[in-house]
Amino acid sequence: MKVPRFGRLFAVLGVVAVILIPTVVATARGRATIAVRVDGSLLSVRGGTTVGDLMQRYGLHLQPGNLLDVDGAVLQRGVEPGRIVIDGRTANASTTLRAGDSVILEAGASRAEPRVRSVYRTQGARTTNPQFSLAGAPGEEIVVSGAISGKVVSATFRPAGPSRGPRSVALTFDDGPGPYTARILSVLRKYGAPATFFVIGIHARDHGDLVREEVQAGMAVGNHSWDHPIRPPFAKLSGSRMRSEIEQTEQLLLSMGIAPQLFRPPGGSFSQRVIDAARAVDSRVVLWDVDPMDWKRGRTPGQIVRAVLKAVRPGAIIELHDGGPNPQATLAALPRIITGIRAKGLRLVALGA
Ligand code: ZN
Repeated sequence: MKVPRFGRLFAVLGVVAVILIPTVVATARGRATIAVRVDGSLLSVRGGTTVGDLMQRYGLHLQPGNLLDVDGAVLQRGVEPGRIVIDGRTANASTTLRAGDSVILEAGASRAEPRVRSVYRTQGARTTNPQFSLAGAPGEEIVVSGAISGKVVSATFRPAGPSRGPRSVALTFDDGPGPYTARILSVLRKYGAPATFFVIGIHARDHGDLVREEVQAGMAVGNHSWDHPIRPPFAKLSGSRMRSEIEQTEQLLLSMGIAPQLFRPPGGSFSQRVIDAARAVDSRVVLWDVDPMDWKRGRTPGQIVRAVLKAVRPGAIIELHDGGPNPQATLAALPRIITGIRAKGLRLVALGA
């Protein structure tokens, strides 16, 4: 059995030679090959190679982190550059690699914009501008929003004393009209539930019949900008762009015989400039205080129903969507939302001027 054993030995020597010979040859030319580990994979490079050379050769990049708004949308790309780590220590592109180095290319962490808390006082029965709820009692509206995007995270009404708030609730539908608007309208009609539709100008232009159907069904119609700009956030648009976003939709609705008096900025992004721009066309800014995130892809009807019924209070303005990426879930949730709200002894109303 000696021959096979020698055979095995030669095979082993052969493998060793295959590994060693290129190294030796390279050494003879002064360019030894070294092995390094990059994000767990073994790579071989010439001695003297820097991290920058390695990344270029293998097409590796440091994934930068982004600045996100309160909904997770990107406000600014590449704000956190990421980090090169070799054997636990921070390195940079000019660091020379040594045999056996373990290189980790750490992605930059994305971070959310800061949040700001603002307090709006409500006086007597006057409706606030911006309006977050139907509450007409004296008190405070505490609003948390993204410091950069102006997007509303939450709005909570705190009455100044014992008061009986309105026993009504407003359902509002944004981002339509679209393929689900007619079906949502027919559910509202079937249940005799009034609501308010904040329409996007370009969709209202393309589906004027649906907007007329909303009015005929006793719904209120509000302005939700011309083409729903999100980046930069609405509150950061130039004055002329902001005005034209509001005025184009206003003009279109007027031409259809509808005089909108309510404006809801995309993403709820508002500032005093937004309020002034809306006021220039005699409109008040209306936001919401219940947001079940129904627009999010993958959100189920059950999740939407639970989120609404958990948060709804007398005077609530609920934000839903008949447009956007997930209206089929909103449609499926709607009957249970209506019956659930009514079961709490609350009345559904359309938003008034
Ligand atoms: Zn919207």
